[in-house]
Amino acid sequence: MPATMEVVCNDTKCPLDMFDLHFTYEMPDDVTAADFSCPYCGQFETLTEIEL
Ligand SMILES: [Zn+2]
Repeated sequence: MPATMEVVCNDTKCPLDMFDLHFTYEMPDDVTAADFSCPYCGQFETLTEIEL
């Protein structure tokens, strides 16, 4: 199954808590949360990958 990543936005002013990223098999293994921006506030540096 392709990988998924759970990401939280740590900006206290951002109402988004967490979201899932669902990858295809083409997504490189070295992709991290730092490669994405928050879909709500648009910041890169506030995102942290979490393990459920
Ligand atoms: Zn955010």
